[in-house]
Formats: sequence, C-alpha cells, structure tokens
Amino acid sequence: MDNKRKNIKNATVSEFLENILLGDITYLSKAITLIESSKKADYKKASELLEACLPYANNSVRIGITGVPGVGKSTFIEAFGIHLIKLKKKIAVLTIDPSSTINKGSILGDKTRMEKLTKEKNAFIRPSPTGNQLGGVAKKTKESIVLCEAAGYDVILIETVGVGQSETIVNSMVDFFLLLKLAGAGDELQGIKRGIMELTDTIIINKADNENIKEAELAKIEFESALQLYPIKENAWRPKVITCSALKNIGIDKAWQIISDFVQITKDNGTFYENRTSQNKSWLLKTIDQQLKDNFYANPKVQTNLTRILQSVENNKISPFEAANELIEIYFKKKEE
Ligand code: GDP
Repeated sequence: MDNKRKNIKNATVSEFLENILLGDITYLSKAITLIESSKKADYKKASELLEACLPYANNSVRIGITGVPGVGKSTFIEAFGIHLIKLKKKIAVLTIDPSSTINKGSILGDKTRMEKLTKEKNAFIRPSPTGNQLGGVAKKTKESIVLCEAAGYDVILIETVGVGQSETIVNSMVDFFLLLKLAGAGDELQGIKRGIMELTDTIIINKADNENIKEAELAKIEFESALQLYPIKENAWRPKVITCSALKNIGIDKAWQIISDFVQITKDNGTFYENRTSQNKSWLLKTIDQQLKDNFYANPKVQTNLTRILQSVENNKISPFEAANELIEIYFKKKEE
C-alpha cells in the first residue's frame, strides 16, 4: 500500500486518468489532494487532469444538502447513501465546511460521521478542503465533482452548514438542493435564513419519529403554505416538503423518489443541462474576478503603494475613486515594463 501511495504521487496525468476511470479510490483521493494543493507544480498537473476527466464527467445527479448542526445531516446522508447503494448506485459525499476558513476548526468534521457508509465500497466520503476563502474552498469541491463523476459516481452529495454564503455557493454547483429542518413550536419559518427558501427544491423535516410525528406534520403544512407564496421556478419545479426519520429510515425512499422525479422533469424540459451550463458560465466569471483580484493584490508595486494611498484617503487628500484609479494605473504600468 505504501509503495502504491509513493507511486501514485509520481503518477502521470494519463496514469491518474486511467485509474480514476477504473474507479480506483486511492487514485481518486490522491487526485483530489492534488486539486487541493497550493503548490504551483501540483496546480499544473491538477488542471491537466481535470481537463482529461471532463469528457467522462457530467453524468451524475448532484445534490446539495444543508441544515443546522444537529438536524441530522450525517444520519440522513448515511441512510440515504445506503438506500442508493441498494439501488446499485455509487455515491460520493463531499463537504464544504465554512468554518474551515473562519477558525480552522470544523463544524462538520469533529465527530466520527457516517460510520456505516464509510465501510461501503460504493461510497466515497471526502471531508471539506480548507482554505482562506470560502470561494476557494468551494472551487476545489466543484473540481472534485468532475473527478468523482469520472470515477463513476452516480450521485454526488455536497453537504454544508448554513453559515454565511455557504448555501448559495453549494447551490451554484448542484442540480437539486435539500434543506433539512426540525419541527419546532409552530414558528418554523422564523428560523429560516433569508433567501434559502428560493434555493430549496425540497424541505425535509427530519426526526419525524416517536413523540415528534405530530409536530413534524404541522411543520410540513406550514412550510407547504409558505412555499406557495413563491413563484414557480423557471424549471417548472414546485418545491416539496416531506417528513422523515433518518434514524429510523422512514421517508428516505421518498426523498430519492422526489429527486428522481425532478431529474426526469428537468431533463424532459431541457432545464437540467441548461442549469449546469449557466452554473459553469457563472463560475467562469467568478474565477476571472477572483484571479484578477488575487493578481492585483499580490503585485509588489500595488502592495507598496496601497499603504500610502490608504493613508491619503484617510487624510482626505484624495477621493477613494481617484485613489483606486491611481493604484490600478500603477498595476498596469508594472505589467507594461
Ligand atoms: P448533523 O450535525 O446535522 O450531521 O446531525 P447528526 O446526523 O449528527 O444528528 C444529530 C443527532 O440527532 C444524533 O444524536 C442523531 O442520532 C440524532 N438524529 C438524527 N436523525 C434523527 C432522526 O431522524 N430521529 C431522531 N430521533 N434522532 C435523529
């Protein structure tokens, strides 16, 4: 095994590709590590590998899943994953943990999660990449999706917790977005972050078991009537609400049925791939934005002049707009030299 690891590290792009296409998990893991690496040499290899994998990608269902800590995400993913494996599917679980960028801690990774699923040979579970910016972390996950698809995973689950922009970012890389909720005391809607209802394709009220069943049913009705207020989506999909018990394996099959219906409907009306294309276009623009910005601030001339110009703005010697122009000119001058 150690020998294999060593060999893999030096494997060529075509060796990587060949083994990923065979579904080799060790190569897949190593390829994702390559994507996550910040070394320049790795970056080049990772890009080549991604390009090579692209023709074999795009053929999975990508599902986003979110909910507050404790709502039952990992219990749900485990039950859902095992259900899919029984249906002869291969499932990959990737995570975007916004806390990995905030305090280097981890909301999603601290405990042992999805123990049963980890042991399944048709499941691949990868914890969140780390990074300074959520956008950077998410980019690595978006690229990892391509590798997982090339390795033959039919269902890719992207899990996150609802901190900051993480849900919007996950939504920008999935076909279907699941929100896990708990039934409360009749004020379910208050706990919903703004904007999240628009993203949601299905709300799952989890822990609908034992004494919670009645409350969960009430919450379901409340969410259903709240969703009525939103206009029907462009893809013609009407978001659903279901109750489920991830712990007791109740409602899991229904969740998959809903997703399968969604895929059928949106493939039939053409919006399934349209959505992926518009996601890719938006990632292209976002990546350009980010790279230009990174290059700008990494420029030594910009760095030296920025402090001085900030000082001038602070002392009201120059307007912020003129200051910005001056700095941008300095940046381009450097390029021409
Ligand atoms: P996560 O933080 O969202 O991943 O939540 P976990 O999956 O770790 O679940 C948090 C706690 O809720 C655990 O103790 C689970 O056993 C429990 N739990 C999860 N799903 C259910 C459920 O459907 N019913 C009940 N009664 N408990 C559940």
